[in-house]
Amino acid sequence: MSQPILPICVKCNLEMRPDTNGVTVLLMAYDPPQPYEAYDADLVKCPNCDMQVVVGAAYNAFWMHFHEGTQPDIAKENVFPVYENVKSLPTTEENER
Ligand SMILES: [Zn+2]
Repeated sequence: MSQPILPICVKCNLEMRPDTNGVTVLLMAYDPPQPYEAYDADLVKCPNCDMQVVVGAAYNAFWMHFHEGTQPDIAKENVFPVYENVKSLPTTEENER
């Protein structure tokens, strides 16, 4: 055993394992939410319950809404939108209220 460097799953008491390197964190801002900035990050997963967490976002954004360049496709599997707060979450069957 060595010092854990990845998140710990509190349900399973296990250190998470690398799952996918090079996913995209897409920060969403404004109301209604629009893509604002995008960062490279990694996806880790609990080896027991498969809970996934995005970690290790890069310090610098690789895309910003006010610069030229291609906006990441929010519909892609490896793009994870992150909203400013609970209120700005898109309505789904799970969080509808
Ligand atoms: Zn777990």
